[in-house]
Amino acid sequence: MSEALPGVGASLPYSVKSAVTLARSGAWLARTRGRPDLSGLRILLYHRVSDDDDPLALAPCRFRDQMAHLAAEGYRVVDLVSALEVLRAGPVPSRTIGMTFDDGFADVAAEALPVLERHGFRATVFITTGVTDGRVAFPWYERQPAVLGWDEVVELDRQGTLRFEAHTVSHPSLLAVDDDAAADEIRGSRRELEARLGRPVSAFAYPAGLYGERERRFVAQAGYAAAVSCEPGVNLPGGDPFALRRRQIDSRDRLVDFKAKVGGGHDSPLPLRGAYRRLRYGKPESARV
Ligand SMILES: [Zn+2]
Repeated sequence: MSEALPGVGASLPYSVKSAVTLARSGAWLARTRGRPDLSGLRILLYHRVSDDDDPLALAPCRFRDQMAHLAAEGYRVVDLVSALEVLRAGPVPSRTIGMTFDDGFADVAAEALPVLERHGFRATVFITTGVTDGRVAFPWYERQPAVLGWDEVVELDRQGTLRFEAHTVSHPSLLAVDDDAAADEIRGSRRELEARLGRPVSAFAYPAGLYGERERRFVAQAGYAAAVSCEPGVNLPGGDPFALRRRQIDSRDRLVDFKAKVGGGHDSPLPLRGAYRRLRYGKPESARV
């Protein structure tokens, strides 16, 4: 991955992150004996489902185990727009989880979709329209893995298990571009996606989860109903729909980490992440709303 802009929010070096994650999961397990916190709604964030050696790729066997766990525990797994409806309706029914994939990689259809279908789960895929049609490439790959093309996106969206929403045109850090560019990225991806899908597009994902008050405002002005960040935590009715929280599932997460993330044991950022993020991206005043 290049230093320019990873596909996800800045994070600690991998081995450190993995060890801290496991320690937190252990603390959660000891504290709760594995009983999940059933308040509010948590939204999970994935990128790829593949055996490739890529920090964004979760092994298919791990994904299958995770989904089997949710099914066995009676979770209802919904896409982002449905999650928004759940939040608007008032108290969240317990064991409801939002499922999202960022960037639109082809392995999501190949590896994740059959698993989701088997369990009757649904998910939102946030796609970068310029990458979808090959005008631009993600900057952090030397050799970019295949992404879904427009024909597949349109067909899959119609089938309904995967629903596609917007993730800018070229995946910039929105904090690093000027007003016109930021507005174009946010507005343009919605317009392009709506033209392709022939339906309203109402949700947006900030690239790498980076946004500030300006980006939030542009998203609202562009006509979206909701936007997701990469800030972990639980979403409650009455919260800001343009700052929805998501918990990323990492490729090194063990099943206990997954259970802890779903159960509320990882609702706050890892220690030191804020400092690391400021070091890497600067703009501490605007990196968070
Ligand atoms: Zn992304």
